[in-house]
Amino acid sequence: MFDVIVIGGGPAGLSAALVLGRQRRRVLVADGGEVRNAPADEMHMYLSRDGASPHRVLEAGRAELASYPSVELRPGRVARVSGAIDAFTVEFADGTVERARRLVLATGLVDEPYDIPGLPERWGSSVFHCPFCHGWEASGKTLGVIGRDVPQVMLGRYLADRFSDDVVVATGGPHELPEPVLGKLADGGLVVRTEPLVEVTGELGAVDLHFADGTTLRREALFHRAPTRQRATFAADLGCEILDDGSVRVDAQAATTVEGVWAAGDMARQPAVPDALTLVSQAAADGVRAAVWLDQGLFRAAL
Ligand SMILES: Cc1cc2nc3c(=O)[nH]c(=O)nc-3n(C[C@H](O)[C@H](O)[C@H](O)COP(=O)(O)OP(=O)(O)OC[C@H]3O[C@@H](n4cnc5c(N)ncnc54)[C@H](O)[C@@H]3O)c2cc1C
Repeated sequence: MFDVIVIGGGPAGLSAALVLGRQRRRVLVADGGEVRNAPADEMHMYLSRDGASPHRVLEAGRAELASYPSVELRPGRVARVSGAIDAFTVEFADGTVERARRLVLATGLVDEPYDIPGLPERWGSSVFHCPFCHGWEASGKTLGVIGRDVPQVMLGRYLADRFSDDVVVATGGPHELPEPVLGKLADGGLVVRTEPLVEVTGELGAVDLHFADGTTLRREALFHRAPTRQRATFAADLGCEILDDGSVRVDAQAATTVEGVWAAGDMARQPAVPDALTLVSQAAADGVRAAVWLDQGLFRAAL
């Protein structure tokens, strides 16, 4: 019986494990090894690691955990989770079964770029989703934004406000953008192209949008706020409340609505926060918060 099984070895899960290991808790970290920013060469906005490789940062994190003998890192995908506080069961895809008194879910999100040939392949290398993570590097460049709903095209307006005076929005086909939004795009000097998109080619610095009418538009970088989904359904399977946007509901201590289950990182959000802040620093902080309160709960339960 582990004190805690952490599912997910990204920034949130590893941070939780570090805290718990230092408190001499017996911890298993199960990790499928598919962190969200894996396609990106650089990670930004993490103090002391701005511009570092996401892989290197995780390697460093795993190396630090090796100092804490009560923490076990186990590569592998978890297939099923069941049980209740003090008696959770975690079943790996290879059939291995482990038990724990508490769970930390840190399984992250999956990005699902539009199904335009060439777009998913360029995700994270020449197609970016976040102006905080990658806007600075796009400064002064010709930019394209692919999207057809309001938040997606307003990303273009934001980029034009902060980083570039040459931003083209490509809806890739018909859209239902309200007039006031189109007005805001025009006021910002953005061009909107509505022809269907048939392909994206090229690399960072020279990415080509190929339209169905046979024309091509070259941009130095693309942005696309792709839809996301939960990478795993364990929170829902256990009966945790899920918010309208698909985030797992957590309180200020990172506890879910199911006793004994914490959730941290991109997958979770407090209802008071209007939009999930899906950033590495935020995920790491969430993992720490979950682990501290979980540890304190275990301590009090033993008194
Ligand atoms: C292209 C791209 C670039 C980004 N760049 C930045 C940046 O520069 N700066 C920044 O702050 N943020 C950036 N982000 C956001 C950042 O990647 C996330 O905020 C961060 O990775 C969230 O950490 P997490 O631990 O919550 O989830 P993740 O990093 O996604 O880790 C989740 C882990 O859980 C594991 N897992 C899931 N399901 C299972 C299962 N069934 N069994 C076992 N393991 C499982 C996964 O394999 C994965 O290892 C970027 C995102 C993208 C898409």
